[in-house]
Amino acid sequence: VWAEVLSTLKGALGKSNYSNWIEPLEFAQLEDGVATFHVPTNFIGNYVSQNFGDQILYQLNKSGHEARRLSFRVPSKARKTAQVKPTVKVTKSDDDKGAQLDSRFTFDTFVVGKPNELAHAAARRVAEGGPVSFNPLFLYGGVGLGKTHLMHAIAHELKLRSPELNVLYLSAEQFMYRFITALRERKMMDFKQLFRSVDVLMVDDVQFIAGKDSTQEEFFHTFNTLVDGQKQIIISADRAPGEIKDLEERIKSRLQCGLVVDLHPTDYELRLGILQSKVEVYAAQYPELVIADGVLEFLAHRISTNVRVLEGALTRLFAFASLVGREITLELTQDCLSDVLKASDRKVTVEEIQRKVSEHYNIRLSDMIGPKRLRTYARPRQIAMYLAKQMTSRSLPEIGRRFGGRDHTTVMHGVKRIEELMAKDSQISDDLELLRRALQE
Ligand code: ADP
Ligand code: MG
Repeated sequence: VWAEVLSTLKGALGKSNYSNWIEPLEFAQLEDGVATFHVPTNFIGNYVSQNFGDQILYQLNKSGHEARRLSFRVPSKARKTAQVKPTVKVTKSDDDKGAQLDSRFTFDTFVVGKPNELAHAAARRVAEGGPVSFNPLFLYGGVGLGKTHLMHAIAHELKLRSPELNVLYLSAEQFMYRFITALRERKMMDFKQLFRSVDVLMVDDVQFIAGKDSTQEEFFHTFNTLVDGQKQIIISADRAPGEIKDLEERIKSRLQCGLVVDLHPTDYELRLGILQSKVEVYAAQYPELVIADGVLEFLAHRISTNVRVLEGALTRLFAFASLVGREITLELTQDCLSDVLKASDRKVTVEEIQRKVSEHYNIRLSDMIGPKRLRTYARPRQIAMYLAKQMTSRSLPEIGRRFGGRDHTTVMHGVKRIEELMAKDSQISDDLELLRRALQE
């Protein structure tokens, strides 16, 4: 049962989640719709249940096993030698005790455009070393916009320039895992020693520790010790420090005292640039394949702002084309990627957009649609119009009608206004990105 589910989970959850959380599970039985697993500790059981429970259930059912519920148990005769594998990936190289760095994530392979140029420049600056310039460097932005890529790029560059530097990169999740393991195994001294001996500490996806009190506490101390010792810290998160819920105030303010830069959602130009650079790599790999004019432009238009999704689509396209031995035409692209294309224009209605936007800005739906002209209402209204234009196939007059019978020129003006604001007000682009994500779920 389990073996086949395992391989799909590996694909679905990614390598590091898989080896940290799924591998330690031992399938025990499936009875009366309850799938039981043995786990080395309750912590792992709870974590897996909360974070991957749905996925596991889904995969079990998909492979034909009727499971309604999962149960995680620490076996009573808990072998003391529990095969808790070293769950944090440790690279073999002697100086590196953090997570593995992806060798493809370098500055060379990072395509720079308007939405990410500031983050890129800041990352470059930090990587080039010299006097400690921004400490901490805090990078934030939505999923798949290049945070991890930039962090790895900094690490690669630092190691290249100063091999003697002790650079430690890990995710906040790994930080927590190590911390908990150290507590359990009474190895806090080693833990503190390790973190306090680094020259550069990078913690990815720090929002993960929000709400996890003791981990936050330890993170705060580690952070302070390093900053006091003039060590460089680089942090990433999915939103700005002030916006991370359940993160202690003192940590927020600490995180803000260096340089905070954001990666904006990609725009068409950047997506096209990324596609072009990836195609060059594929061209070397599949020299026989021809890609028709207009295909990349089509993809850049139609696929969402998440670069990971964009890359995935391209990979699939090349694999498919090489399999069938055909030129990559627009038609083949539509065939091969129909599900991705469909997902990226999941039907969102103007009404849903209006509801979400009014909730987000805490105004009444009737005020959004009604005639009030105060900025408090007008701005959210324009944002909703913009999203309606972008995310639905409604025409301007149709959108206008749904906004209390406004004229199409009013809608057009609203859309333009938001486009202008996006260029200079990062709060607006962040709001839009959040809303867009919420709507697509
Ligand atoms: P995040 O950590 O922000 O979720 P990642 O750094 O993991 O995103 O990026 C997702 C994928 O997109 C990676 O494969 C990365 O190489 C690629 N990517 C993101 N931004 C760029 C860019 N500007 N140029 C080239 N590749 C990019
Ligand atoms: Mg990341």
